Amino acid sequence: MGAKSPGILPSWVKTVHAMAAEPACHVRAICWTCKEHRDIDLQALAAKVDPDYSLIDRRSPCKLTDGCKGWVKFMYLMGVYRHLWSYERAAIWDARDRTAEEKHAR
Ligand SMILES: [Zn+2]
Repeated sequence: MGAKSPGILPSWVKTVHAMAAEPACHVRAICWTCKEHRDIDLQALAAKVDPDYSLIDRRSPCKLTDGCKGWVKFMYLMGVYRHLWSYERAAIWDARDRTAEEKHAR
């Protein structure tokens, strides 16, 4: 516990179920490769996932654009859209992506 530090996040973004229970909560999946984004249907997602499922520090392969090799990351709306990931996690993702690119280059 406590190993992840996504900064100061409101308690209602900690899990998908908590977000779905907060009527004012909006979450967006964003891909920096194809520059597309999509609003997440939190009710539909909560119906499919475990009670402790969280979007914090999570990314998933982009399905917003056919053939896009990027990743979607998640942001929540509180005045403006804010990151749901930590700087520590972003550094891990960057290192992983660099390794993957080097393998491609060989
Ligand atoms: Zn994409």
